[in-house]
Amino acid sequence: MNILVPPRPPPVAPITGGVPGATAVARRIHLSPPHLAGDEFERLRAVLDSGWIAPAGPMIAAFEDTVAEAAGFPHVLATASGTAALHLAYRVLDIAPGDEVWAPGFTFVATVAPAVQMGAVPRFLDVCPKSWTLDAGLLRQELRAAARRGRLPRAVVAVDIYGQASDLDAIVAACARYDVPVLSDSAEGLGATLRGRPAGTGARLGVFSFNGNKIVTAGGGGALASDDPVLVARARHLAAHAKDPAAHYQHSTTGHAYGLSSVLAAVGLAQVAVLADRVAARRAIFQRYAEALADLPGLTPMPEAPWGRATRWLSAILVDPARAGTTRDAIRTALEDADVESRPVWKPLPDQPVFRDAPSAGGAVARGLFAQGLCLPSGSGMTTAEQDRVIAAIRAFWRG
Ligand SMILES: *Cc1c(COP(=O)(O)O)cnc(C)c1O
Repeated sequence: MNILVPPRPPPVAPITGGVPGATAVARRIHLSPPHLAGDEFERLRAVLDSGWIAPAGPMIAAFEDTVAEAAGFPHVLATASGTAALHLAYRVLDIAPGDEVWAPGFTFVATVAPAVQMGAVPRFLDVCPKSWTLDAGLLRQELRAAARRGRLPRAVVAVDIYGQASDLDAIVAACARYDVPVLSDSAEGLGATLRGRPAGTGARLGVFSFNGNKIVTAGGGGALASDDPVLVARARHLAAHAKDPAAHYQHSTTGHAYGLSSVLAAVGLAQVAVLADRVAARRAIFQRYAEALADLPGLTPMPEAPWGRATRWLSAILVDPARAGTTRDAIRTALEDADVESRPVWKPLPDQPVFRDAPSAGGAVARGLFAQGLCLPSGSGMTTAEQDRVIAAIRAFWRG
């Protein structure tokens, strides 16, 4: 057997139809699986035929141009992951040991992990209940207090949670008063808008992810973006081992191996081309859930912020046990019994064991979201029959 060829996955039986007499097996519904555009294979063939498969060359340049267009930033560096792009962002912001980096507590750990690994102290701010993103009013207050203390953060990170743009206009204005740079972790925000423009724009740096579960994927990958060509050029230098210009290997600092392979960039190109369709599909799934579950007492869909248009990367709901007579965990288990994957929303970072000593401001909103929040299957490739299975499983449980 050729070890380079992985075994084929077992064939998936259709939910309806199929061979008469065969048992129809409903396949497991995943939270947010990759959804192929259809022309990935041709693009992969083209990149392999060209021989340019390294993390450099025309395919990388084309991918960066396409991401720049979609993300609304003129300068883009393709990276091996969103987390790598965050690490490079913290490097070009010159984060040093002991510096404070402020971020919303309601996010994925990767938002702050690279800064923490560089010795920064994370400080977690609460989110706003009408958007689930960083509370700009609280940020203003906290910056004022920090300026009085004489200890301003080295950077503030905003996060576009579940495809909802954070209110960067308010956040950037608050930070500009104190000359604090804003980094937008838009790993979940590609395709979302803020007052009509792409989410993340207006920040000093934006970070995007093309991980397998995101709205479009390269099979793994990320991007760092900015209006400032100098920052992106510095990140590009650091992403390829910080080689100084010389015939021999010369280094004035240490770098990383954070480039994106051209092979993955080819997949990413095919995917970014269908971003608008993927946004429309995810929004339609959210809308379908919201309408089909609207009459269930105690169930509330994630709000859409007044300042933007969310992608609904993940459809999230809140389950209020006092009104629902059930809990988020009971519903998650009922869905699991129906072979449907769902996940509690992000557990707040200040409540993670690793951050038990980190300072924070507020946190009751994020804690409340975690107590009641559940992400439902949201893959843009879901069929209406699959959406109906999710809806039926939830409704059956509510009645019971
Ligand atoms: C996915 C994600 C990341 C990390 O992106 P990777 O490409 O998986 O490294 C960072 N922040 C947030 C909010 C994310 O959802």
